[in-house]
Amino acid sequence: MTQKRIFINNDNKAKFVCPSCEETIVMDVSKYKDINKAVAIEHFCKCGHYSKVLLERRKFQRSQINIPGIYTLNEGNKKIRGAMTVKDLSRAGLKFELDVERDIRAGDRMFAEFHLTDVIVKKEVFIRKISGRTVGSEFCSRDTESETDRTYDRAITRYILHTELAWL
Ligand SMILES: [Zn+2]
Repeated sequence: MTQKRIFINNDNKAKFVCPSCEETIVMDVSKYKDINKAVAIEHFCKCGHYSKVLLERRKFQRSQINIPGIYTLNEGNKKIRGAMTVKDLSRAGLKFELDVERDIRAGDRMFAEFHLTDVIVKKEVFIRKISGRTVGSEFCSRDTESETDRTYDRAITRYILHTELAWL
């Protein structure tokens, strides 16, 4: 029997599906984040099934994503909306490409809006760095009291887990 392989994702977690009961768990594998070769790890499922899997770090860069979206920002005292493309997404922030170069700088805030499966995520972001039309950003502090914000966070997490799984 070939051994099942699982991969460490960008959040240093790995998704494991029990071969017996199909229960899915997400393990924190941050202590393995610097491994250079596969490590065998053991898992006891709560259904009683014992299994051994090989944990690996992905050898290839995650493939680029292209999610269309809309940005809103203030240029001088004008409010500007434009088209953008999300190129990378994590729970902490996103990288995106603007339709045209804008007069913005690191430290500025703007709004990013994009469609994930069934949710339109609208979040304020803090610009980390800009290179031409490419913007690296972090989500501004989350409002854990806000149901809307929690919905956005869940949609992002779901999207990330789903794409991680699709790459296996
Ligand atoms: Zn199980």
